[in-house]
Amino acid sequence: MSRVAGREVPLVDLSRLDPAIVAEAQEAFERISRSGAFTFGAELEAFETEFAEYCGTAHCVGVSDGTDALRLALSALEAGPGREVVTVAHTFIATIEAIASTGATPVLVDVDPATRCMDPNRLAAAIGPKTAAVLPVHLYGRPAPMGEILAAAREVPVLEDAAQAHGAELGGRRTGSLATAAGFSFYPTKNLGAMGDGGAVVSDDAELAATVRSLRHHGADPGDANRHLRPGSTARLDNLQAALLRLKLPHLDAWNEERRRAAERYRAALAELPVVLPPGDPEGGLHVYHLFVVEVDERDRVLSELRSAEVGAAAHYPTPAHLQPGWAALGYGQGSLPHTEAAAARCLTLPLFPGIEDAEIDRVVEALVSVLD
Ligand SMILES: *Cc1c(COP(=O)(O)O)cnc(C)c1O
Repeated sequence: MSRVAGREVPLVDLSRLDPAIVAEAQEAFERISRSGAFTFGAELEAFETEFAEYCGTAHCVGVSDGTDALRLALSALEAGPGREVVTVAHTFIATIEAIASTGATPVLVDVDPATRCMDPNRLAAAIGPKTAAVLPVHLYGRPAPMGEILAAAREVPVLEDAAQAHGAELGGRRTGSLATAAGFSFYPTKNLGAMGDGGAVVSDDAELAATVRSLRHHGADPGDANRHLRPGSTARLDNLQAALLRLKLPHLDAWNEERRRAAERYRAALAELPVVLPPGDPEGGLHVYHLFVVEVDERDRVLSELRSAEVGAAAHYPTPAHLQPGWAALGYGQGSLPHTEAAAARCLTLPLFPGIEDAEIDRVVEALVSVLD
């Protein structure tokens, strides 16, 4: 029987996991329990090798979550007190937190309304002698315009926030391999999700990877665990999560394809409605639709009426970072990032996840038609 009979369409449903994967996860749990290798085990090493290979990078370092992936990569790039990191406010707050947690100051540039990502034309003016790194976000699963961003950044290192874009492509290369380094999150709802928290830093830079490896484990010397080369912290990816990620990774491309297919069904069905559809694939690239985000007038009304109609819609993100109460000290007022603020006011996320049924998409569309009528 179709799930649509129950009517509610969730924003995301992580319980629709292939039973074969659940069985493999149980097997992994038993195997790791018996081995006693809960941290720094063979599964972590194997996952790091496999994920680096997937991204097309020389190195991968598993860490505790996506925020720490960005934090440790930024620290390795020498972001810290007295330095600045240029990013966007139209993102999940973790991007900003990661910068601030190194002691560096976030410098915010506006987005390009066409891509919803960092506007490369505004980047050069934001870069100065204190800039340690540029941190563009591949928002909603669509790669940021990296060619233009790298050109504007010149010799300043660029770190990709790839937390929403596992498997997305630009110019025949996957995210993670498009700049100096990248941070990924394996939060359960991400395109590649753990059964808990996880993250990774990937890079071609051996020295950067070694520094992150040390930082995730108390700044330890890889050759001598009792020697601490720098102040670090506990920020490891555990062996069990690594095992679970290993068994999910081979499915990632197929899951992304399901996301893309669902997005196309929305696109066709919404073409005539008064909504701005998300940008499609970048030229020669691949959008992996972590989220399907349209823009509408009167977003709050539309969102609340969709919820009343049992559609799990949402807004990502209704208040940009610079207008959050906890981040007033950044010093950007209302009106300082107009395209970001317009996107935040108009964004509406529709249910989309691997395993969503066509009939569920159709029900979301039906509800949206009646709300916009
Ligand atoms: C999820 C996310 C993060 C942080 O990842 P966590 O694993 O939740 O710490 C960072 N940046 C973006 C854009 C995200 O979506």
